Amino acid sequence: MAGYILEITYIISVLLFMMGLKKLGHPQTAQKGNMQAAIGMGLAIVATLAFYTNSEGEGLGNFAWIAGGILIGTVVGWLSAKKIAMTEMPQMVSLFNGMGGACSALIGLLEFGPAIDSDVLIFAVVLGSLVVGTITFSGSMIAFAKLNGNLNKDIRLPYYNILNTIFMITIAGLVACLLLHNITDAVTWIYILFAISFVYGILFVIPIGGADMPVVISLLNSLSGIAAALAGFIYGNQVMIIGGILVGASGTILTIAMCEGMNRTLVSVVFGAFGAGGSTAVAEGDGSQGVVKETSASDTAVMMNYSKSVVMVPGYGLAVAQAQHIMSELQQLLEANGVDVKYAIHPVAGRMPGHMNVLLAEANVDYDLLVEMDDINPKFPTTDVVLIVGANDVVNPAANTDPSSPIYGMPILEVSQAAKIIIVKRSMATGYAGIQNELFFDDKTSMLFGDAKKVITDLVAEIKAM
Ligand code: NDP
Repeated sequence: MAGYILEITYIISVLLFMMGLKKLGHPQTAQKGNMQAAIGMGLAIVATLAFYTNSEGEGLGNFAWIAGGILIGTVVGWLSAKKIAMTEMPQMVSLFNGMGGACSALIGLLEFGPAIDSDVLIFAVVLGSLVVGTITFSGSMIAFAKLNGNLNKDIRLPYYNILNTIFMITIAGLVACLLLHNITDAVTWIYILFAISFVYGILFVIPIGGADMPVVISLLNSLSGIAAALAGFIYGNQVMIIGGILVGASGTILTIAMCEGMNRTLVSVVFGAFGAGGSTAVAEGDGSQGVVKETSASDTAVMMNYSKSVVMVPGYGLAVAQAQHIMSELQQLLEANGVDVKYAIHPVAGRMPGHMNVLLAEANVDYDLLVEMDDINPKFPTTDVVLIVGANDVVNPAANTDPSSPIYGMPILEVSQAAKIIIVKRSMATGYAGIQNELFFDDKTSMLFGDAKKVITDLVAEIKAM
């Protein structure tokens, strides 16, 4: 009976996961979707604790330990999710990916003993969970440090591409030898496999430059799902398998979308032959490329208010300043005055996939006004004013013109085609990729220096006063 209840609860959980995932596809339904999936997971956990029995009919034990783990996890997760600023969300996502990987790695480490002499398929799954989980864990920790600003440099060891490939081949070879029982003292070698995978995770992410980070983040997300699905196979647990496959599959779709957005192939990502452009990073504030024109809020307000069409380009600085609400007010004000306003959304603007969509949805911006890069680029030649707010790398022409740039090859928003460009940022400092932007020195460009929230609040006040 208990078995039936468990199976039925698992089916309900899986349905909730799938419905939740579908709802995550649109900002208006995403919150509800997240809640549904969380309820599905909660149900699965409670049902497992209450009704799971092994082949001998024994239920779970160690409830005090399990309750302790759940309590600590819930308190830490709850408090950090409450406390985290929107701008720190990407780091948090990386940490979550890493924790998922760590769980699968630990399951692999715990379960290899009984699995060594059992079914070869189960042993393969245990090793897979260990390897993929460990790479996801150490790789995500490096991604966390990079997003958090603790690790600003892209560290490239000599011949790092070759080194990474050797590590990959070694891992594959070791797994094959363990599976074929070609190794005596397998237990020691499994710990060596764990150590090599750990180091590979670090080496895999550490050389990656600005333009490639989004791809790696979505790849790690997908790997965390695959690791969870493999761990689910070890226990024959349908919810873990399906949940893991859903994360793995959606993460893979996202990875492919990010690769397309970044003009990279997945093969070049996996084998580490990317981000290899010679860095042309300049010191922050280096503005030695020419003369920069400054403008004021009042001049910009007049220009925008009397334009036919305005395209706003949000970037990471919009999230830092939390200026999405006032930006939406500016858009509504301009529309009320007869201006056609759109938002240009670059696939890697901000610090996590979909960052700008999330931010603008928070401010209830009509989803139809958000235009993806490929659709907005042909419209720039007929746009009167482009207002760039806290974006930098995603409008940097070096991606088209400078083969030595770390962002070379990345498609950008072709804002220089518009009649007039206004850039709102606080200084001449560089963006995530650490490179100067020649757009700042373009004849058509004027800089409107200041914090995005303050500047846009001023623009709104100026337009209201007209
Ligand atoms: P950038 O990081 O290129 O630039 C952001 C700009 O915002 C900075 O130059 C900064 O200039 C400005 N800024 C910061 N705070 C404020 C503020 N309070 N008010 C006004 N301006 C501010 O951002 P983009 O969105 O253009 O590009 C994203 C970059 O991040 C890309 O290189 C991408 O590859 C990378 N990345 C993206 C990820 C993703 O998944 N989306 C993940 C990881 C990396 P100043 O200091 O002068 O104000």
